[in-house]
Amino acid sequence: MATASGSIRLFRLGGIDVYLHWAWFIAAAYFIHRAKGYSSPVWSVLEYLALFGIVLLHEFGHALACRAVGGKANQIVLWPLGGVAYVTPPPRPGPQLISIAAGPMVNVVLAGMVGGVVAVSTQFGLAPAGSDLRNFFYMVFAIAVALLVFNLLPIYPLDGGQIVRSLLWFVLGPAKSLMVTCIVSFVGIAGLILVAILAKSVGLGILSAFVLASCWGGLVHARALLRISQLPRRTGVACPACGAAPPLGAVWRCRNCNNQFDPFGTAGVCTTCGATFAQASCPECGSVHTMDDWIVRSTESVATQQPESP
Ligand SMILES: [Zn+2]
Ligand SMILES: [Zn+2]
Ligand SMILES: [Zn+2]
Repeated sequence: MATASGSIRLFRLGGIDVYLHWAWFIAAAYFIHRAKGYSSPVWSVLEYLALFGIVLLHEFGHALACRAVGGKANQIVLWPLGGVAYVTPPPRPGPQLISIAAGPMVNVVLAGMVGGVVAVSTQFGLAPAGSDLRNFFYMVFAIAVALLVFNLLPIYPLDGGQIVRSLLWFVLGPAKSLMVTCIVSFVGIAGLILVAILAKSVGLGILSAFVLASCWGGLVHARALLRISQLPRRTGVACPACGAAPPLGAVWRCRNCNNQFDPFGTAGVCTTCGATFAQASCPECGSVHTMDDWIVRSTESVATQQPESP
């Protein structure tokens, strides 16, 4: 995860570091230059800052909700095309759903608040039609709603796609839910690319490419999860995070020589290069634990050194 490279740390709030990618400044200059309908460029700057604020609050929604359900979230990076909250909710569909849905919920609340401000200011004649203030309020409302609609598209890894995946997880489990969501998402991504071409939108084109790459990565991950889920299970140990017993098979990869082996069968020693590892990751949920943390359920003896996995 190359998260914070090329980024400036803006501030830390509630244990969450907020980073701003340098490309924001190029995008900001471009958008502010293009913004129309105001008598002064100051309003264009304010509009862009409002966009920035909405994206930031949306990401804080994800991060704080993830923490509330017992997950990890300590970094938000703001890119020119949107923000990313790096969240690791507990590997169950319920907490995943809450962490994802909290982002769009922030947009709903913000749009409602701005809509209320517009209604009240219109009522009392505080922001007459055609005034900069009125135009600004309308634009902020439009931004909050547009971001909400875009984020809710059922395309993985957009919020909408991740919500669909979490819901399917309740029925299909982690691997199949991810696979189905990614396959269906390719249809939506084709639609996004078509819209980008028709609208001659470079920004949407770049965004579509990122979404396509992430979705492909999701499909590859789903295939690996599915293969692992079909292997028999080792008795005596279980993941402390998700409770799954590790598969009986050479599905961990040695960091040293890239050979695949089963650390639970070799006391953490790579069968090819002999490197030993003190930890093993859970193929089911991705969390990494030292051997002591893998719950011992039987009399099977436990080695002290365990490997890292892919
Ligand atoms: Zn989101
Ligand atoms: Zn696990
Ligand atoms: Zn090795």
